Amino acid sequence: MPSIPGKACGSCSFCCKVLEIAELAKSAGARCVHCASAGGCAIYPTRPEICRVYECLWKRDRGMSARLRPDRVGTLLMEDPETHRYQAVSDPARPLAWRHPLVFTHLVAMARAGRTVVAKAGLRCWRIHATGEWGPSI
Ligand code: SF4
Ligand code: SF4
Repeated sequence: MPSIPGKACGSCSFCCKVLEIAELAKSAGARCVHCASAGGCAIYPTRPEICRVYECLWKRDRGMSARLRPDRVGTLLMEDPETHRYQAVSDPARPLAWRHPLVFTHLVAMARAGRTVVAKAGLRCWRIHATGEWGPSI
């Protein structure tokens, strides 16, 4: 997929920390052992296929504000590939980062648009409703 102007990962490596990556035996919230101290990926030329193809929704969505870059709000947005739910993923070390006003407003708007919206942080999960109410989910 061609990159979108202004939508480079830059200094963000949020997905390399918060996502579970089976190919790397990496759990959610554990920084990948291949994250370079200066930023970026230390095994970039040989990184797994999942790392080559993954893009969070912020990077793919031309209309999403630069202020929503995942490392700036402590939350990344993605489609759950199994359940097709609209998902906010926060660092287990800051599990309620998805309550950031910019993120939360966006999540409620997605719920109002008819999507099933959840927020996750490690094993914890919450449902966000179109009314702006939210609570634990299973
Ligand atoms: S979370 Fe998004 S912007 Fe950040 S490194 Fe991953 S793909 Fe790039
Ligand atoms: S292998 Fe590289 S791109 Fe993949 S999670 Fe680790 S640091 Fe990120």
